[in-house]
Amino acid sequence: MEKTLFNPKPPAPSGLAPSGPDSPIDGSASIIAAILRVLRDGERFLVCSHSRPDGDAVGSVLAMGMLLQQMGKRADLVTADSVPGIYRSLPGASGIRHALRVHGPYDAVILLECDSIQRARLSGLENFFLINIDHHISGRPFANLNWIDFGAASVGELVYRLVKAAGATITAEMATCLYTTLLTDTGGFTYGAVRASTFAIAHELVLAGADPIGIARNVLYSTSTSKVLLLGAALNNLKREGRIALLWVTHQDMIRTCASDDDCEGIVNVAIGIAGVEVAVFLRELPEGNIRLSLRSKGKVNVAEIAERLGGGGHGNAAGCTLEGPLARAIDEVMTELRQSVAAFALTTP
Ligand code: 5GP
Ligand code: MN
Repeated sequence: MEKTLFNPKPPAPSGLAPSGPDSPIDGSASIIAAILRVLRDGERFLVCSHSRPDGDAVGSVLAMGMLLQQMGKRADLVTADSVPGIYRSLPGASGIRHALRVHGPYDAVILLECDSIQRARLSGLENFFLINIDHHISGRPFANLNWIDFGAASVGELVYRLVKAAGATITAEMATCLYTTLLTDTGGFTYGAVRASTFAIAHELVLAGADPIGIARNVLYSTSTSKVLLLGAALNNLKREGRIALLWVTHQDMIRTCASDDDCEGIVNVAIGIAGVEVAVFLRELPEGNIRLSLRSKGKVNVAEIAERLGGGGHGNAAGCTLEGPLARAIDEVMTELRQSVAAFALTTP
């Protein structure tokens, strides 16, 4: 039998309001209370995140599942794509199922890190009462309950706040998952919404049992050989245009280096690390001919705006989208957008 560590609170009022665009979209106590009411009232939940899950997606889904378990609830964890290798050692990661369609007797579905319902790439979501917890600038209040906090370093930080508000215990397993969301979504505490409070949370998580060195080893120092070979191919294609750095890989490069989708993550960070570069672009040709685009900024150019104009989204520092091929056309399209944004930045910079 499951052990319930959760401190029960007085019974919540019944009913699932508030709903839709009228519900608050900041990190206020009222939205946290509304979310907790739904969690306390229900029995069975589905927890999902975006397709091609990253560290924040995997870590926050796992921690949310652990919170629900402590509350004595049943939680199914689902993503459209498999968990990348570097996150498979996270506690409970093997419990995340992969599906493209969801159905079941769920009282609510909790969508983490999704700026739209489509980001999850799971059909059937629209049939459920939806709780949206996100921190993207491109985040929209598409759900019945929406908690969107642009200031959060990771969605894991929001799950952490939910855990605290619920009076639940931060176990070592939960701390490991939550610490991973902070580490990965801030590029190792170097960008994004890093604030003093980020370190305060990280401190508490380490005290609760997260092992910062072990997690860094698993996440940052476990690069596959195929990824390093793919990086070589990308670096062969590195171009510099003023404050913009651009690199790409073709589908042929992917085949030649035996690279997986996961191997593409982070390649763009090498380009944004170049001195004098303000915006970095990484393009990847997909097997069917579309192009995946990753954008990074050192902070002066808002790449979320650029990605949104191109049909995607993200954060001011890190954003992405899928473009139509061929590669040369996609490069032209993104460079036209970027030249304008970088020129506007140059005009306003002494
Ligand atoms: P990455 O470049 O690592 O794939 O993505 C960087 C950021 O942009 C992530 O926060 C991710 O959620 C967001 N992002 C990437 N691709 C897309 C996309 O196709 N649509 C939206 N809305 N956001 C994206
Ligand atoms: Mn995130």
